[in-house]
Amino acid sequence: MSNEVHVRMDSHGLLSRPSDVAVPGLGNIPSAPASHAHGDGEARPLLSLVVPCRNEQEVLPLFVERVSCLLKELDADYRSEVLLIDDGSTDATWALICEVVRSDGHFRGIKLSRNFGQQAALTCGYEFAAGDAVVSLDADLQDPPELVPEMLARWREGADVVLTVRTSRTGETWAKLQTARLFYWLSARLCSYPIRAESGDFRLLSRRGLDALLSLREQHRYIRGMVQWLGFRTAEVAYDRPGRAAGRTKYSYRAMAALALEAFVTSGRSFLGLAGRLTALIAGLCLLGWMGLLVAWGLGLSVEGVLGSAVGLLIVLGTVSVLFQVLAAEYLGRIFEQVRQRPVYIVEELCVQQPVAVQNLASPQRQQG
Ligand code: UDP
Ligand code: MG
Repeated sequence: MSNEVHVRMDSHGLLSRPSDVAVPGLGNIPSAPASHAHGDGEARPLLSLVVPCRNEQEVLPLFVERVSCLLKELDADYRSEVLLIDDGSTDATWALICEVVRSDGHFRGIKLSRNFGQQAALTCGYEFAAGDAVVSLDADLQDPPELVPEMLARWREGADVVLTVRTSRTGETWAKLQTARLFYWLSARLCSYPIRAESGDFRLLSRRGLDALLSLREQHRYIRGMVQWLGFRTAEVAYDRPGRAAGRTKYSYRAMAALALEAFVTSGRSFLGLAGRLTALIAGLCLLGWMGLLVAWGLGLSVEGVLGSAVGLLIVLGTVSVLFQVLAAEYLGRIFEQVRQRPVYIVEELCVQQPVAVQNLASPQRQQG
């Protein structure tokens, strides 16, 4: 039996939807078909859980235990699948995922070829998810799986997007809480579609919400901002966020700063517009300074005071201009990467009941086929 996996690529280089991923002898991935109209023969809708994992060997067994309990509880009303995406782990995460997949058919493993980052891993899971309702959650149990039934209830009431909002956060450092507060404050002022304060990537999307999200083809994916942009009827579920059940955070302050920059830069043009307006304001003040200098000169007055102010303004203008150039370079870099149209992630291996090696899943040549 061949272990080859056929993956049809779309023109944007992202992996295509799972119905196109045929694994000979193993069926399609995921094997459970979505029942997009809930009234079809199979009455139970399909729930997909999407879980990015990076070096989560300590917490994964606990996560699987809690999620398995949840699936049992939901079994009468929902079929379910759990997509575990290994984002370039260097510990035993992938081996654990394969073990779980072999012992429980609800779980499916997708191994990325390296660490692409949580947002890319999430994108991968979203693309493979076949569910009528798709919930993304972290592997570390900071997003309690027990909240999923309440999220599903909001979805059943007609919401296409169900956000979870943290009313408290246990186990986070003071610095992390303050930087998060600053981020939401800036987002409310700088972003065209501000991020809902205290919401994260623990959310439910309806099938049409997810399809709309996947139709956004940008390479740099700040998914919280993209979901905000989508619109749709949105509901919220409040919860107290516990600390990590085990293991350590994979987000350094540097990684968090990079993600925040991503949020602002990809959030529409208002951020760029603000920088432009600021530069114009300072440039206007400089012009006024120069005019004052010329007038003082013409009238034969002492120019020392005016000269001092003009130099001060020039320094401010210089600083703002440099900052503006750095910002423009950020946009330019993103345009460059968008034009190259590289895939957002590359899959190295799939694990569905048994591991399947996949070669060049995302190679451009495959797009021709
Ligand atoms: N994660 C990932 N790739 C990364 C970093 C993190 O897939 O490059 C996963 C990680 O395994 C976890 C989730 O993203 O399931 C959130 O990461 P973490 O808990 O470290 O972030 P925090 O909650 O501390 O912000
Ligand atoms: Mg966490």
